[in-house]
Amino acid sequence: MNKQSDVVSLVNISTQKWPARHRTYFGSLTIQSPEGGAAYAVTPVRACTSMMDLGDKRTMEIRLSAQEIAEDLVREINGDSGEGSYHGVFVAAGTEPTKEELADAQKKLEAFQRRLVETADLEWERSHNMMFITDLERRAARELGLEKPWLYDPKPMADCPACGEKIRPGVAVCRTCGAILDREKAAKFGLAEREEKWSGEGRPQMDKVGDKGKRGSREADSR
Ligand SMILES: [Zn+2]
Repeated sequence: MNKQSDVVSLVNISTQKWPARHRTYFGSLTIQSPEGGAAYAVTPVRACTSMMDLGDKRTMEIRLSAQEIAEDLVREINGDSGEGSYHGVFVAAGTEPTKEELADAQKKLEAFQRRLVETADLEWERSHNMMFITDLERRAARELGLEKPWLYDPKPMADCPACGEKIRPGVAVCRTCGAILDREKAAKFGLAEREEKWSGEGRPQMDKVGDKGKRGSREADSR
C-alpha cells in the first residue's frame, strides 16, 4: 500500500455535530462539521495498527487502512437513523472532495431529509401532536426551507415586554396587545402607521386602566 492512502479525507456536509467516535485502535475521533457558512468540513483519518489477542499470550498485529477505518465511521454515522438513513458524511477519493462528490452527497442528504419530512407530515396528520415530531425531522424541514405546521420550536418563544403574552421570535408586532416590538420591521410591512394611530388612542387607554386600578385601591382604602 502506498504512503498516500495512509490518510484519507472524511468529508461532512452536514452542520450537525456528532459525538466523538471511539475505537479501541485509535481512541477517539471527532468528525468535523462545516462552520461559518463553509460547504463542508474535512476530517483526516489515518491508518492504524491494531493488536488482536489470539490467547495464550499470543497477539497478532492487524493493519487497518485509513480507507477501511473511514468507511466504517461513515457507515456508522450515516446509518444511525433507520432505513435510507444518510447524514452527509462520505470518504473523498482525494484530499479534498470534488464538486461531483459534494453534489452527490447533497442529493442523497436531501432525499433523506425529504423522507423525514414525509414521515413527520404523516405523523402530524395522525396525531397533531408536536411530541411525536423528532428533532431530526424538524432539522430536515428547516434545512429544506419548508414551512410546516409541526415545525414551530417551543423553546425560543419569548414574553412580550408590553403584555407578557408569548410571542414568536422576530415578530414585528405583538398579536395580543399590538405593541411594536421591531420598529424597522413594522415600518417595512406598513404596520408602523397603525402605531402612530395607537400612540393617540392606545396609550391613554393604558393610562385609564392604570387610573382604574388606582381608584380601585383608593376605594378599598376608604372602606
Ligand atoms: Zn403584547
